Amino acid sequence: MHIKDKFKDKTVFSFEVFPPKKSSSIDVIYNTLDELRNLKPDFISVTFSAGGSCNNALACDIASRIKESGVTPMIHLPCINYTKQEITETLTEIKSRGIENILALRGDINPDIPPKKEFLHASDLITFIKQQGDFDIAGACYPECHPDAHTLEEDIQNLKIKVEAGADHLISQLFFDNSSFYEFLWKARAAGVNVPIEAGIMPVVNKKQIERMVTTCGASLPKKFVKIMQRFEHNPDALRDAGIAYAVNQIVDLTASGVDGIHLYTMNNAYVARKISEAVSGILGL
Ligand code: FAD
Repeated sequence: MHIKDKFKDKTVFSFEVFPPKKSSSIDVIYNTLDELRNLKPDFISVTFSAGGSCNNALACDIASRIKESGVTPMIHLPCINYTKQEITETLTEIKSRGIENILALRGDINPDIPPKKEFLHASDLITFIKQQGDFDIAGACYPECHPDAHTLEEDIQNLKIKVEAGADHLISQLFFDNSSFYEFLWKARAAGVNVPIEAGIMPVVNKKQIERMVTTCGASLPKKFVKIMQRFEHNPDALRDAGIAYAVNQIVDLTASGVDGIHLYTMNNAYVARKISEAVSGILGL
């Protein structure tokens, strides 16, 4: 099923998972998927390496497993380090597995991997995918501006190019301050970006995640968020519960404001996804 059709009559609720490291057992992610499917998401997306260490065949296997379990899968597809030939082969593989939904991405530019330069932007990939079959295509968007863009306005103009190329819906980068998402949404709609936009929510539930947020994530950290993290960073159970509660609060506020969908970055943590789903099941009609 094409995911774009799901937005017609409900607030879409989706999960994101990533393939485990090669050293980990595949059974771990399969057990996680079994738990996630019971939470009745509208779809589950699987990340895909932009090139390098990760095993992309595994991403296809995980997406197939999601489909077999009765949930709609979406596979991420970054293009910057792939040739047209390689993307065509991947699309053939995706199609042969009956996967119809793709999140088309540029991918981060890695200083150690020279870009192949056959696709410069996600919009180039979207145009290419549209020539290759009847896929539902999503794109990424950035409420607090993509780091390569000079201003949010410029980024939104580029987002418009992505939508005009054929993105059927969008998924946002994570954010912790809903007001930044509302401001982005208002500007995107005013600029003519009219496809459904899912809000990306990342529950921060352990110390390692906090450190990553502070050093690498461009998302602004509201005072309330920082206070919670500082207070509970040395108490794992308290931090986990506070991180879940913070994400739930964000989702309640976004849903009350009529958001098109919630995309939960699960970090392969089925416990956290379950706690959040249970807390918002009445609100999202799960
Ligand atoms: P683009 O849309 O190409 O945008 C990149 C930059 O170029 C922006 O600054 C934009 O303003 C500008 N731009 C865009 N189009 C044009 C144009 N036509 N002309 C001029 N400038 C333009 N990465 C992975 O490697 N694997 C994943 O699985 C993955 N999953 C992700 C999931 C989500 C929901 C999100 C939000 C990101 C994900 N990423 C993933 C990260 C993503 O690849 C990076 O953020 C990357 O730097 C940008 O990708 P993009 O598709 O948004 O690029």
